[in-house]
Amino acid sequence: MSRYWSPFVHSLSPYVPGEQPKTDNLVKLNTNENPFGPSPKALEAIRAAADDKLRLYPEPSSEQLRETIARYYGLTTEQVFIGNGSDEVLAHIFLGLLKHDRPLLFPDISYSFYPVYCNLYGIDFQRVPLDNQFAIRVDDYLQPSSGIIFPNPNAPTGRLLPLDDIERLLRMNDGVVIVVDEAYIDFGGESAARLIPKYPNLLVTQTLSKSRSLAGLRVGFALGQPALIEALDRVKNSFNSYPVDRLAQVGAIAAIEDEAYFEQTRQAVIANRDWLTGALKKLSFEVLPSQANFVFCRHPAHEGRVLAEALRARGVIVRHFDKPRIEQFLRISIGTEAECRQLIDALTEIL
Ligand code: PMP
Repeated sequence: MSRYWSPFVHSLSPYVPGEQPKTDNLVKLNTNENPFGPSPKALEAIRAAADDKLRLYPEPSSEQLRETIARYYGLTTEQVFIGNGSDEVLAHIFLGLLKHDRPLLFPDISYSFYPVYCNLYGIDFQRVPLDNQFAIRVDDYLQPSSGIIFPNPNAPTGRLLPLDDIERLLRMNDGVVIVVDEAYIDFGGESAARLIPKYPNLLVTQTLSKSRSLAGLRVGFALGQPALIEALDRVKNSFNSYPVDRLAQVGAIAAIEDEAYFEQTRQAVIANRDWLTGALKKLSFEVLPSQANFVFCRHPAHEGRVLAEALRARGVIVRHFDKPRIEQFLRISIGTEAECRQLIDALTEIL
C-alpha cells in the first residue's frame, strides 16, 4: 500500500482470477476455458482483419456484431449491447441498472465478481442462501430489492434453474431488473433470451469466452429490451467509447456464424463432462449435477485444498475456493478426453 493511493482504493477487495500458468505442460482445468480451439473461421477472419485499418478506431457500438447476435437470437439490434468480455458488461449493468437505494440480491454461492462490483460502486447487497442441494429457491427472492442477479447455470455449482422458475421470478419481481448471467448456458440449458419480448425487466448476459472458445478475445454481450440497453450505452460512453477492438468484432461475428463448429465442440464438452462425472463417482466423489463446462465435486474423506495441492504437484490445476460451505469442493473445468483421463489418473494415485 502506498500513501499516494486514494482512501477508496484502500477499501477495495478485488477479484482474484484463477492461475494462468506460463508453461503449456500443465493440464489446465481451473478457469473454465474451452479445451478445443476457436472456430478456424474466426481465426481466419481475425488474421484477415490484422491490416492497415488498425490505425483507425473500431466502430464504437459494434453494429455488425450486434446485428449478427440479434439474428441468432431472433431479437433486434437495439436489444443487444456489446462489451469487452461479459465482466465489463456486468460492471456496466451494476452501475447503470442495479445501483439503487435497496440491496441487490444474489445467491450466497455465486460468481465472486458480484460482491466486488458492489464494493466498487457502493451497492448494498444481500446474499440469499441456496437450498441444501445447492439449488436456487425462487420463493426466497420475494423481498424489496434493487434487482436480482445470478448465473444460470450457477457458478461454481453448475446447477441450472429451469426457465419456468425464471419466469416466476420475473413475474414476482416485475418492478426490478433481473439479470441472468448465462456465461455457461450453451452447455446444457435453454437461454432466457426468448423471454425478452415478454419481460421488460429481464436482462440476459452471455460471453464468447466459453462455448465459443474465445476467452482471449474478450467479447461479451447483454440482451434486453431497448430501455435497459440504453442505460448500458450511457455508462459505456461515459467510460470507454471503443471497448471492442476491430479484431474482436470480426472474430466474434465469424465465431457466431460458424454454427457447425459451435455444435460439434459443445457436444464434445458435454460428452466429456458425462464421462468425467462417471469417473469421479467411481472414485467416491459426490458430483453436483452440472449443466456447465465444469463439475463441482467433493470427496468424503479428503480435504478440497489438500486434493487441489496434490493435483497441482502432479501437473493438474483445478480450482478450490476457501469459502464457508464449499471449502470441501473442487471445481474442475471440462478438458479434452486426454486431459480428463490425466486428471482421473492423478486422483487415483492420490486417493
Ligand atoms: N459470469 C460468470 C458466471 C463467469 O464465471 C465468468 C467467467 N469467469 C464471467 C461471467 C465472465 O466471463 P468473460 O468476462 O470472459 O466474458
